Amino acid sequence: TRAYVEAAEQGRGLNAYVLETPEIALVRAKASDDRMVKGEAGALEGLPLGVKDLFCTTGVRTTACSKILGDFTPPYESHVTDLMRRAGAVMLGKLNNDEFAMGSANETSCFGPPVNPWRRSGSDAKMVAGGSSGGSAAAVAAKLCLGATATDTGGSIRQPAAFTGTVGIKPTYGRCSRWGIVAFASSLDQAGPIARDVRDAAIMLGAMAGHDPRDSTSVDRAVPDYEAAVGRSVKGLRIGLPREYRVDGMPAEIDALWTRGAEALKAAGAEIVDISLPHTKYALPAYYIVAPAEASSNLARYDGVRYGARVPGRDITEMYENTRAAGFGPEVRRRIMIGAYVLSAGYYDAYYVRAQQVRTLIKRDFETVFADGVDAILTPATPSAAFGIGEKADASPVEMYLNDVFTVTVNMAGLPGIAVPAGLSSEGLPLALQLVGRPFDEETLFAAGSVIE
Ligand code: GLN
Repeated sequence: TRAYVEAAEQGRGLNAYVLETPEIALVRAKASDDRMVKGEAGALEGLPLGVKDLFCTTGVRTTACSKILGDFTPPYESHVTDLMRRAGAVMLGKLNNDEFAMGSANETSCFGPPVNPWRRSGSDAKMVAGGSSGGSAAAVAAKLCLGATATDTGGSIRQPAAFTGTVGIKPTYGRCSRWGIVAFASSLDQAGPIARDVRDAAIMLGAMAGHDPRDSTSVDRAVPDYEAAVGRSVKGLRIGLPREYRVDGMPAEIDALWTRGAEALKAAGAEIVDISLPHTKYALPAYYIVAPAEASSNLARYDGVRYGARVPGRDITEMYENTRAAGFGPEVRRRIMIGAYVLSAGYYDAYYVRAQQVRTLIKRDFETVFADGVDAILTPATPSAAFGIGEKADASPVEMYLNDVFTVTVNMAGLPGIAVPAGLSSEGLPLALQLVGRPFDEETLFAAGSVIE
């Protein structure tokens, strides 16, 4: 723990941590030592880990990287971090993310973007670590922690993992409790780990998952021994390659990576089959209706009365307006406006209801394929490698949203998805493949993922 506390300090240039908690870490590490001596070690005993700043942590500032939460210090602990703590984990600090987890580059954080420890060959330009869990990914990749918690609403675990050469898994919706995690889009949000390899991710998820009656969508189902699935044979597994993921303009090197991944699985005994997920092209537009709609509702609570920052006004309405105008950054304001629009009378049926119908069709695409005997689906994790910080800042928001083209479908369908590093781009940056599984079959993803990494 001491070594990691020092690493976090020395790695401050990466802006991965938004708060370091060395005193807490050392106290918990000491308690871990005592438990180990007594032979009472938990699954994460003494492991120095980072926590995305979206998870509420008792007595430790939690901001979701938004000015509107100011120096909010929760009096309670998220279910996931509580489970990890009970399993012996040592928290090193809170990690950077996009404001309220809205973004794909971690550039919307009120603390500024974290820096990807990777560089393009022959260049000093700083690259994004991906988003929204960019701080988690940068910290794990730079060894500023052993692993980190993250959340994924439309790709925020898998895309930053892909950009940093780390492993990230978004489990099945309902696998981890959302209780105590700052809400973005509640029907899509899931917690999961970002770790250095598939085995670490399996160990971490095992400690993070589990039923919690405080989240009505959390599922009461035993947590399997995920670690036992790592390295398990993939012989006889049917792996589908969805033709709709061969999108226009996809770089040839991503296509080649995908083929190599399929070949590796085939060499290990899996059967590779071509499949179709016909509604894929509607996933991104439908996601960018459903997610902002839920966000506009969830973020209504930041009114200057109950949490964080308050900017006074002449009356309560003006106080709300002043607080929300000063507290929310531009991307969050955009989402709230889109969300309020698609939920408003007259537009609700045309946008929100239709997006929910599209969501059902996307889910059925996957159900059909799994019913046909496909065990997992292999796709690229992202349409490109990491890009430079600020490089897309002047582009339209839609260009940033296009980053999520391979990941949002999985949230829309509530399925588990893992991103596993699979090679380097021509510029020397990490590239990853994604495996998508049946509901609650994270084990197959760990088995197949360990063939690819
Ligand atoms: N990039 C997506 C968005 O901005 C997904 C973010 C996430 O998964 N939290 O909404």
